[in-house]
Amino acid sequence: MQPPLSLFSFDNTFARDLDGLYTAWQPAQVRTPKLLFLNRPLAAELWLDADALGTPEGAAVFAGNSVPEGALPLAQAYAGHQFGGFSPQLGDGRALLLGEVVDRHGQRRDIAFKGSGRTPFSRGGDGRAAVGPMLREVLIGEGMHALGIPTTRALAVAGTGEEVVREQLLPGAVLTRVASSHLRVGTFQFFAARNDIDKLRRLAEYAIARHDPDLAGSSDRYLALLRRVVERQAVLIAQWMNVGFIHGVMNTDNMTISGETIDYGPCAFMEAYDPKAVFSSIDRNGRYAYANQPLIAQWNLARLAEALLPLVVADGGEAAAQDAVDRATEVLKSFEALYQAALLRGQRAKLGLEAAADEDAGLADDWLRLLETQQVDFTLGWRRLADAAAGDEAALLGLFAEPAAAREWIGRWQRRCASEADVTPQLRAERVRRASPWVIPRNHHVEAALRAASQDGDMAPFDSLLDAVRQPFDEHPGRAAYAEPAPAAVTAGYQTFCGT
Ligand code: AMP
Ligand code: MG
Repeated sequence: MQPPLSLFSFDNTFARDLDGLYTAWQPAQVRTPKLLFLNRPLAAELWLDADALGTPEGAAVFAGNSVPEGALPLAQAYAGHQFGGFSPQLGDGRALLLGEVVDRHGQRRDIAFKGSGRTPFSRGGDGRAAVGPMLREVLIGEGMHALGIPTTRALAVAGTGEEVVREQLLPGAVLTRVASSHLRVGTFQFFAARNDIDKLRRLAEYAIARHDPDLAGSSDRYLALLRRVVERQAVLIAQWMNVGFIHGVMNTDNMTISGETIDYGPCAFMEAYDPKAVFSSIDRNGRYAYANQPLIAQWNLARLAEALLPLVVADGGEAAAQDAVDRATEVLKSFEALYQAALLRGQRAKLGLEAAADEDAGLADDWLRLLETQQVDFTLGWRRLADAAAGDEAALLGLFAEPAAAREWIGRWQRRCASEADVTPQLRAERVRRASPWVIPRNHHVEAALRAASQDGDMAPFDSLLDAVRQPFDEHPGRAAYAEPAPAAVTAGYQTFCGT
């Protein structure tokens, strides 16, 4: 088949600059490409012609059958700590970077496949992906994006017409993922573990040029890069926490340098507030439980610091090693305060508050404790503060089995609000509504949509859920079901699987 002409204006810096850090590789051919999803708004952002991509030729491209002009497909090398244990070689076992494009904002974005067949990094895996988990990446990624949370996004999902073998046979698919880059903590670990300082340095220079170009050439740039990643991750994790998102598999290979959320495998949104919530079937010790996420992020960043240390030391000259360790430790320690500040900023917005006051952290903590003891739905609890701000407390109180304690807290909150005297109740309510979503991709709806798509080829539930999670802050009478929690019994038994 002739390659389609110039669908993408690729400019492939990774392939060009990082020879030796990847393996050039081609996607597998599949039987019957069929476009299941095309992200038109994202296509527009990337200067792509969505109409051209929405054709059978586009389906062939997104299934991997027809490599578009200008692409230089490659599998990236990376390592990673998985559940605390180090695997020196992971890498793109079922993914390929096709290339990079520059979007309408001038930002460079990776276009990459997931599920496009075996690569030299596949180890025992089949290199494939199933329809359900790839559509899951679409729903959660679009939901996160609409919530204002940095994330990789899905450009397309193409069915392959082939089956993949998991616990059962499942229809296969290829996801096309867009990311600010696919550089991970584990990418640095790969070269550090091999003591390949030359490649480590090239990688660090590349990361700086791509994500923090203002640091290029500065004498302290490797430590400064670490600081930037710490800052981005602190803000990101705080955002996760403020929407009740549980990533589920925060291995170092699933943590980006860009600060985007990546790899929506066994992730889930919390319903009733429970800091210990874990949904992933393989997370038996709760390492990646909701409340552990900030600690784990900091632990992962310590692994990044270790990987960067040889560069920091090498640049510091004689007797620099201890000094480098001390400075890196200081940068790592800053995570905690940055995280707490970002969390509180978000909570303040969710409380409808504008200026900062000393009591705000306590107010937010006590609110969360109330939600926890009375097992209140996290999303609805926050959201209905808007109704209370507008004068209707009944809807909020209705969430509590024992409303007396809630009433007392609401009184405290209202007094705090009253200290910002120039804000009308309507404006306050509006503020809360902009900070706390009405709709999140609730697990039971996600599962139902994926089931219909995967088992019955029925995309209608997926399409309508996608519309809803793309407008999470807007109340829409036709979407009321998406705002409802699952029955508690369903949530209690809910498990997510890594069998992606
Ligand atoms: P993940 O848990 O999805 O982040 O993947 C961890 C590692 O396993 C990465 O190196 C993946 O490329 C690899 N991997 C996951 N699933 C497969 C598969 N089906 N075939 C080959 N490699 C895989
Ligand atoms: Mg991964």
